[in-house]
Amino acid sequence: MDWECLRAICEDCHRCPLGQGRTNLVFGVGNPRAEILFVGEGPGEQEDLRGEPFVGKAGILLDKMLACIGLSRKENVYIANIVKCRPPHNRDPLPEERTACLPYLREQTRLIRPKIIICLGKVAATTLIDPNFSIMRSHGVWYERKGFWMMATFHPAALLRNENLKRDAYQDLLRIREKYEELTAETKKEPPVAETDGKKEETEK
Ligand code: SF4
Repeated sequence: MDWECLRAICEDCHRCPLGQGRTNLVFGVGNPRAEILFVGEGPGEQEDLRGEPFVGKAGILLDKMLACIGLSRKENVYIANIVKCRPPHNRDPLPEERTACLPYLREQTRLIRPKIIICLGKVAATTLIDPNFSIMRSHGVWYERKGFWMMATFHPAALLRNENLKRDAYQDLLRIREKYEELTAETKKEPPVAETDGKKEETEK
């Protein structure tokens, strides 16, 4: 399935009750070939109105956090959510809503093929890493799953509520930058490969 097809299916989706209340589907934003995929929990009021993830105060903070480590939603990351329609009153998405929507995120991940997946907050971490995940205990820890490097850190909304978490969040960001550099350096080191008569050959630089 390609991006257009996937988006069209999502735009029309009513696999869970959240589809009835949405103003706009919040599909995702960023570079579709990004090395890093950030995943939040679900759209809030502003996101629902604009059809883009992380656009309110939490979104502004996320953009600042990304800029801190030389990343940007316009250039080198992709941002999506566990559910693509706004849960009422900004409650956490229910387990059955997450299950219904997850195949779309999986398909986005298959298309993007990121090296790194960062879970923003508990909902994303308990859905993608471990159902018993504790953000306070295990933020900043790397997990290697199915060929992806995964980490959870604090949701920007949590950082707005509790300034004391910002120091730990900054350390997590530095770990993300370090892993990003390590993995992209590995890619750069691989010699370019040219195809000749169906056989692959290494080319000289
Ligand atoms: S949240 Fe996901 S599964 Fe539910 S209606 Fe929206 S797109 Fe469909």
